[in-house]
Amino acid sequence: MIAQINNISVRFDQITALENISFSLNKGDFLYVLGPNGAGKSTLIKVLTRSLKPSSGTIMLTTNKLGFLPQMLNRKQNFPITVIETIYTGFDKQKLIMSKEEKLIIFKWLEKMGISHLAKNMMHTLSGGEQQRVYLIRALVSNPELLILDEPTSALDPDFRKAFHDLLNDLNAKGVTIIFVTHDLHNMDTVNKKVLHIDKNVLYFGLCSNYQKEVSHHV
Ligand code: ADP
Ligand code: MG
Repeated sequence: MIAQINNISVRFDQITALENISFSLNKGDFLYVLGPNGAGKSTLIKVLTRSLKPSSGTIMLTTNKLGFLPQMLNRKQNFPITVIETIYTGFDKQKLIMSKEEKLIIFKWLEKMGISHLAKNMMHTLSGGEQQRVYLIRALVSNPELLILDEPTSALDPDFRKAFHDLLNDLNAKGVTIIFVTHDLHNMDTVNKKVLHIDKNVLYFGLCSNYQKEVSHHV
């Protein structure tokens, strides 16, 4: 077991964003979190990453090695920061000077993601897809045991999206637990993966294969 979520509710004034969400994950699980706009997906992710305190309920994570990519909502950079500096904030302990080893890790990922030529550029000069790759790398550099990605491919072109899914499958095969928020499973690789479908509360939690059987049953 790597994550145990019990009866999480989140209320903002009049709005109930989440109502009694419970589920648990084993180490090495790959979970898709599904639901329409406003379903509470990002709210759940913020609770999991402890950037938001739930109104009630408990979360237990058995690892503190988290990698997190927040949802990109027309991200505007308010202060000048380069690609390398952005990625460096993904290391757990940041010192004033980057070590050679850290630099090597960053460049290995930049090359893998096809953006090493942008290393010293300012973030605000990058396209949305390039920025999204940078934030992906930031989530990966510390070798997380639990990788949480909120709509990570929204700005990526189809070719890179495919490469990105292959990369996630590789990491997952090495034992990394993955929580992947997305709108729908269209074109997604669902073999041996789990689904949490929410719309304020849990509509389905279980294996993708059973979920798809249920969905096709209703169509
Ligand atoms: P999703 O990611 O599934 O699209 P969100 O988790 O972002 O949905 O939002 C769920 C609901 O909670 C929405 O109705 C949204 O407007 C509301 N909400 C989210 N964050 C806040 C906030 N900080 N204050 C008030 N309402 C919020
Ligand atoms: Mg969201």
